[in-house]
Amino acid sequence: MGYVLQNEDRLVWHYEKNGCYTVRSGYWLACAIRDRGVGEVGASSINFENIWLRLWRLQVATKVKVFLWRCMLEILPCRANLSVKRVVSNPICFRCHQAPETVLHALWDCPAAREVWQFSALQDSCTSKYHGCFLNLFRYILTVLTDKELRHFGYICWNVWNGRNDQLFQGRKPNAFQSYQHMQEMAEEFYHANRTYACATQEGSNLVVNWERPPAQFFKINVDGALKTNDSVRGLGVVIRDDRGELIAAAAKPVCGMFTPNATELFAIRFGLQLAKDLGLQHIYLESDAQAAIRMAFQCDADLGYEGVLVNEIQVLANSFHSYVGQFRPRTCNRAAHSLARFALSISDLIVWMEDGPECLSPILTNDVMLIS
Ligand SMILES: [Zn+2]
Repeated sequence: MGYVLQNEDRLVWHYEKNGCYTVRSGYWLACAIRDRGVGEVGASSINFENIWLRLWRLQVATKVKVFLWRCMLEILPCRANLSVKRVVSNPICFRCHQAPETVLHALWDCPAAREVWQFSALQDSCTSKYHGCFLNLFRYILTVLTDKELRHFGYICWNVWNGRNDQLFQGRKPNAFQSYQHMQEMAEEFYHANRTYACATQEGSNLVVNWERPPAQFFKINVDGALKTNDSVRGLGVVIRDDRGELIAAAAKPVCGMFTPNATELFAIRFGLQLAKDLGLQHIYLESDAQAAIRMAFQCDADLGYEGVLVNEIQVLANSFHSYVGQFRPRTCNRAAHSLARFALSISDLIVWMEDGPECLSPILTNDVMLIS
């Protein structure tokens, strides 16, 4: 049973001989759909090019954009599409058994999808109309929703599809309200992260000091610590990039204990050095926005108390590199590590990312590289 179901969810791109999607055939299909006049239903005057433009300009994560794009091209592996390709014999929705599971049905019309949408104000403005296909629905909502609502729409669709897959492959029915809330938060978080950095860009490089690449052959390690008042957890964040600004690794780790801000920053420095050492790096630039911690760690002899123990460990670690520099930089240079330190407050154990960082990091990394003069 499980084997059959897994087989069902195979995406075959039948516009290329080998079944794999390419940009060329995607573009070809987009033109073909446009020429066929798909999307003529509905009162909207938005043409095909504008739909695409609005989609790619939407301030949501790339994965959500690509997902919506696949929905509009009707290439999501829902049952109706799979039955056309004879991958499955029955096109009927496995959740409600009421209708063929088209993309529109799976994400919008199915009672299981409605359970999520009922929490959203979006449904009032859209449910009264007959949309026919997902592209028409999207085309219609572009005319009635605000940008913020559009962003939420994207995340909710994406989540409804993931919930559907969870139910199909894991037999787990997601909680509709939690899904809705979580998606709304994700949409807002992504948007505000992007906006903050867009604002920083506009302020100009005269006012704001930005992240800089390390010298050739060096790796830059940004570290930061975070804490919430009255909470006994501290968050540590590390981001390691090469001399082109490419992400090598990132890590987030919570530590338990009512440590002072300074001790938390020392923990973050040690954490960053340890990760760089584990990765086998030899030439490093370590940066923190905590001036006192940097001075303590790299410029003076070990102090008394547990902070002294940390400083000792930092110095032993630092000396094990071929060459190292530890320096203080303003917060504007340390945004990536800062966001991971904040993120670390919400997790229960260490997370390390290699090459691909978490979603919250990508706008910051992109922005840091764009701001390099
Ligand atoms: Zn259904």
